[in-house]
Amino acid sequence: MTGIPPLADYAARDTASRGRRYPEPPPNYRSEYQRDRDRIIHSTAFRRLMYKTQVFVYDEGDLYRTRLTHSLEVAQIARSVAVALGLNEPLTEAIALAHDLGHTPFGHAGQNALHQAMRDYGGFEHNLQSLRVVDELEEKYAEFPGLNLTFESREGILKHCSRENARQLGELGQRFIDGRQPGLEAQLANIADEIAYNNHDVDDGLRAGLISVNRLMETELFHEHCTAVKQRYPALTPRRLIHETVRRMINQLIGDLIEQSRANIAAAAPNSIETVRLLPGPLIGFSSMVGARSRELARFLRTRLYQHQQVRHANRKAARVVRTLFEIHFGDTAPLPETFLRAARQAETQQGKAGRARIVADYIAGMTDRYALREYRRLTGDTDTTPGLTGVA
Ligand code: MG
Repeated sequence: MTGIPPLADYAARDTASRGRRYPEPPPNYRSEYQRDRDRIIHSTAFRRLMYKTQVFVYDEGDLYRTRLTHSLEVAQIARSVAVALGLNEPLTEAIALAHDLGHTPFGHAGQNALHQAMRDYGGFEHNLQSLRVVDELEEKYAEFPGLNLTFESREGILKHCSRENARQLGELGQRFIDGRQPGLEAQLANIADEIAYNNHDVDDGLRAGLISVNRLMETELFHEHCTAVKQRYPALTPRRLIHETVRRMINQLIGDLIEQSRANIAAAAPNSIETVRLLPGPLIGFSSMVGARSRELARFLRTRLYQHQQVRHANRKAARVVRTLFEIHFGDTAPLPETFLRAARQAETQQGKAGRARIVADYIAGMTDRYALREYRRLTGDTDTTPGLTGVA
């Protein structure tokens, strides 16, 4: 037996898994979800996250979050809560580590630009792309395409999905049509994402000088903890004041999430992951007071940081890079790397222009920030778009 901690009845477990798309013998020394997590860590898409923007372009400074460190922070938060709630920790970790695998270069600016470019060909959703990465695009195993993850990991990775896309996803898409829930590990990874980015964006935004402590005092969550820290430690350096405040904010959010989720679980008393899936609403969530504080902070970041003039300026440049790369490769697939070129030809034979567009989108979505910039400069000769973009949200 391996040292897997005891699980609550409502947790995901190997014996109740809906399985993998391509059946495989069970792992010898790991659980099914440990195997999923390990496959994600060994994937190429995971390593690419190191050079993809979270909010700030990777070479703006060495200390800003990248999509890789963001994903690690999400996993850390999610795992702490999973253990406290008796959920399946390796599954929670797998979902958290994989949740952004399909993200384009340049954060949301890149995603929006690619969605625009793809509007006549089914659009582009980074969530759906994360699923495509683990289901199709990773080339790792002799026996199957992608990583062949369990249903539960894939269910967690697919956070949102339009009804139209859901209809094409079979069993995995069904919950978006029926208005059902994913397992609790998936619900948790989703909220851990929110906790991680709200808090680290405060830290990164302050570091970049795009938001200030004074402004942040407008939000209840920051105000309460920053005031308490200042009172108790009046001589603290600004760096330590910020860290101590953010640490306490995260603590409050996590503590509240655990307590409220415990109460929700106790009230609904689900006895298996299947009963969790049939419930009308999620069970993992904040109390209404803390939920409101979290949303207030998110609103603050939206208006003060993500829509900051400097960030928007950078976004326009990033969008231009992504749009141009799409136009060039969609217009002429010849410069595509060999595997994409072959895939584009095959997809075009089967699905026409939309097929070709999808493969070009796969290629661009897989680019790191610096690869995209290098390709853009090489193909256009435009040197105006320097790497020092200053922030992309
Ligand atoms: Mg994320």
